[in-house]
Amino acid sequence: AEPRGTLDIRGLSARYGPVTALDAVDITASPGRVTAVLGANGAGKTTLLRTISGLVKGADGSVLLGGRDLTGASAETIARAGIAHVPEGRGVITELTVEENLRLGELLGTARRGKGGREHRLDTVYEMFPALEQRRRREANSLSGGERQMLVIGRALLSAPEVLLLDEPSLGLAPRIVAQLFALIRDLVDREGITVLLVEQNARSALSIADTGFVLNLGRVVAAADAASLAGDADLRHAYLGF
Ligand code: ATP
Repeated sequence: AEPRGTLDIRGLSARYGPVTALDAVDITASPGRVTAVLGANGAGKTTLLRTISGLVKGADGSVLLGGRDLTGASAETIARAGIAHVPEGRGVITELTVEENLRLGELLGTARRGKGGREHRLDTVYEMFPALEQRRRREANSLSGGERQMLVIGRALLSAPEVLLLDEPSLGLAPRIVAQLFALIRDLVDREGITVLLVEQNARSALSIADTGFVLNLGRVVAAADAASLAGDADLRHAYLGF
């Protein structure tokens, strides 16, 4: 059987009407590793995460978590199985306070208690992200972009996930904030052995913390290798990675 926390995507294809967004994609993401999924706008990255988490229906192929087949399961079943999706654009509930947003993650964490995944408490998330503790009673809409990103990641961690799907966490953040956020993600993976699938257009930053990477173009995997090899491949960088 696959080790707990291994996410295996096999032959995944997804369509929107006549548009093929994913075409027979094979990707494996392992515990304790950051796996980057790179590619230009429209390459299929967001569709990949939305298909894994059960938001895009009717895909072909399979999604397995630790050998458990989650293909076609509901978004709720997939979340309960331990896959936490942090969507593009940071789905904070702006009318709630920082702490109320975090409590929502805690609800799912309670439902998952004892089912694997590193369990977190509010205070450990505040230790990880001190800026959130300082602002715990403020409405989430008062947060900066970087703080919102920390809030949604903190909320996801409170659900005790085995796998964290991160969709463009760097979007709209200043380079210095991106560097801080990515260092936090790397540290989290190293300390907790969680599985991270990191979707990014910012390939340079993503590869700087990733172990392995997959490059998507028009829904297909056009390159798969360890992060250093991808970053060192000038042709690939120019053709697909934009740096
Ligand atoms: P982005 O960084 O812009 O999110 P992406 O790599 O995540 O890009 P997707 O958003 O997954 O790419 O889009 C893949 C393809 O599917 C594109 O051709 C896009 O136009 C198309 N597409 C995405 N969502 C829909 C939708 N809801 N209906 C129709 N076509 C869609």
